[in-house]
Amino acid sequence: MDSRVLESALRALSRYPLCDRCLGRLFARLGRGWSNRERGEAVKRVLVMELHRRVLEGDEAALKTLVSAAPNIGEVARDVVEHLSPGSYREGGPCAVCGGRLESVIASAVEEGYRLLRAYDIERFVVGVRLERGVAMAEEEVKLAAGAGYGESIKAEIRREVGKLLVSRGGVTVDFDSPEATLMVEFPGGGVDIQVNSLLYKARYWKLARNISQAYWPTPEGPRYFSVEQALWPVLKLTGGERLVVHAAGREDVDARMLGSGRPMIVEVKSPRRRRIPLEELEAAANAGGKGLVRFRFETAAKRAEVALYKEETARVRKVYRALVAVEGGVSEVDVEGLRRALEGAVIMQRTPSRVLHRRPDILRRRRLYSLDCSPLEGAPLMECILEAEGGLYIKELVSGDGGRTRPSFAEVLGREAVCIELDVVWVEHEAPAAPG
Ligand SMILES: [Zn+2]
Repeated sequence: MDSRVLESALRALSRYPLCDRCLGRLFARLGRGWSNRERGEAVKRVLVMELHRRVLEGDEAALKTLVSAAPNIGEVARDVVEHLSPGSYREGGPCAVCGGRLESVIASAVEEGYRLLRAYDIERFVVGVRLERGVAMAEEEVKLAAGAGYGESIKAEIRREVGKLLVSRGGVTVDFDSPEATLMVEFPGGGVDIQVNSLLYKARYWKLARNISQAYWPTPEGPRYFSVEQALWPVLKLTGGERLVVHAAGREDVDARMLGSGRPMIVEVKSPRRRRIPLEELEAAANAGGKGLVRFRFETAAKRAEVALYKEETARVRKVYRALVAVEGGVSEVDVEGLRRALEGAVIMQRTPSRVLHRRPDILRRRRLYSLDCSPLEGAPLMECILEAEGGLYIKELVSGDGGRTRPSFAEVLGREAVCIELDVVWVEHEAPAAPG
């Protein structure tokens, strides 16, 4: 029986001092249920025994080999070297790969890592490792010298050992599929930091009043409007997060209400410290924050990939609006029938509205108006219209014509000025997209 394990261990130890873990790691895929430290320790003992045997059988070269490798092997070789060749044992340098830091970094990463997992209310985590370049290079050199081919990387060992020891403390588990956080271990520095995944909730909001913005809109004199985002701040407080972001499927004008179906959105809480708050509690906090002006429904947890789906979805989904429209000189039944015939099913050619030109590129969009149903109001030059339109059609401009930038328009068909004085979104099409997995 030849021993390629011993041969490659000797090749590595002839050139590099290696701690038990870093030697054992060269053979990580041999044997089961042992730590690399146990492997390294065992290989060192058997190697010393084998060299000792050869010396006892008169092999002069074996004694030279043993004496010269002893500093790299370490303490376990001391007694036999001193016995065979008194006074020739020398202390070796620190481990060529880990600098002797591996044990202590693993131990301290577990301490600090556990504290962080608890502080951020994490149950499912993964461990990542940031390796200094020098360590990776030393690891490659030693692997090359040993030529073993059954090893694993120091990164893999740190990840596994830290993960295993954290799990053994209880209350946490390694989860590669849906971790709540990643612990990053610096090696050999030993620092640990935590990347906490956001909380994501599928939800809906209703804006029951006008002049409410979707995003928080700060000015030196305080917020410009009350906002959907601001209404959600109690959720931020409840979860102990650092920041809250609303990913809504589109947005209505500040002065439009959002009624009916409500608008789908994903609420994101960044760096939360409390993750397991029941949806009903979050919803109650949000509704308290909405002060009766904004209502919320929290539906389920969401996945990160669904954020993009919600945002993409906004572009073309159907929406139903209620508009209160003032018409110069009043409106008759003949007018509303004329509007319906001219515009229902029509493709509206719309240049970017002049009111948003300062922040949006000037493009031409084509959006279909699926249906239009207007009723004149008694005793006033007003009509109430229910419109179903392709997402992205600007309704106020469809009414006014925006100086000819939107065609056709209510004003163009009627031959008189028309202005949308109230707008409500009453329904937003929503496929409830779900990310795979
Ligand atoms: Zn080492």
